[in-house]
Amino acid sequence: MILLDGRKTSSDLKLEIAEEVNRMKSSGQNIPHLAAVLVGEDGASLTYVGSKVRSCQQVGFQSTLIHLPDNISEAELLKEVARLNADKDIDGYIVQLPLPKHIDENKILMAIDPLKDVDGFHPSNFGKMALEMDTFIPATPFGILELLERYNVETKGKHVVVVGRSHIVGRPMSILLSRKGNPGNATVTLTHSNTKNLSSLTNQADIIVMALGIPKFLKANMVKEGVVIIDVGITRVPSNESPKGYEIVGDVDFEHVAPKCSYITPVPGGVGPMTIAMLLKNTLLACKRNQN
Ligand code: NDP
Repeated sequence: MILLDGRKTSSDLKLEIAEEVNRMKSSGQNIPHLAAVLVGEDGASLTYVGSKVRSCQQVGFQSTLIHLPDNISEAELLKEVARLNADKDIDGYIVQLPLPKHIDENKILMAIDPLKDVDGFHPSNFGKMALEMDTFIPATPFGILELLERYNVETKGKHVVVVGRSHIVGRPMSILLSRKGNPGNATVTLTHSNTKNLSSLTNQADIIVMALGIPKFLKANMVKEGVVIIDVGITRVPSNESPKGYEIVGDVDFEHVAPKCSYITPVPGGVGPMTIAMLLKNTLLACKRNQN
């Protein structure tokens, strides 16, 4: 069994990005600039945005954090989005989700300039991804592709079962692995909460992508020998053993499933670190596109 090490791969990737930024600087080009919009004080969102900003600093990007109160109106947030769209210094930006309930997330995402949408959530970018055109690929699925590619995991002709159909993970993953090219050319089954006999499907899978958010859902009797498993799940589970009072648990019963796998991502340290690295990669792409 080989661990798909997201920590190491993401730090390799960050070094490559930092080298690229140095080259850009020395040839007098603008360096990438990422902005992050955070609304409110949600603990997990503060942590995610904090590490995105820190990662920008690590690779030499410019970063701007725009922290807004959670009682901001939808109209005011739309104004902020319009301002970022018009700001020529900013190559790309993200609006951290979830947003407070009184704000329509879709309205905000639709207002982001697709050329600055480094999260790849805008319908125009999502459509381009499905049509196999050049675009921003959402960071988590993009990170999974990168891991598969760097570890030379063959996807061509394989049967992939994706569990979970969210717009940010499961559905784009199913599209990306069924596209022509590498990684891709797989036969994909996309499953969700209405799927019947899930374990008969996962038992046939060569590759399983777990993205549902139920800790240790995938058990050893649900997979065949030699399977490749990508565990996207991140759930905080209360724990007396950790000083933080919780531990991070994936969607896979790792202890019992890992011995049957040819490759598996650990949680933490698998898909999670890749997500931020790919956001940086998308910002670098945005910056290069702006300069051409
Ligand atoms: P969502 O909650 O948006 O979607 C969950 C999906 O799982 C839904 O499609 C749901 O089906 C499906 N599902 C729920 N129960 C079952 C079941 N019993 N059998 C089959 N399918 C089921 O989740 P996200 O995609 O946003 O996140 C999934 C997990 O990944 C979470 O733990 C999240 O924290 C983590 N995550 C990790 C990231 C990373 O960087 N590593 C990034 C993003 C998410 P239905 O559509 O029918 O409701």
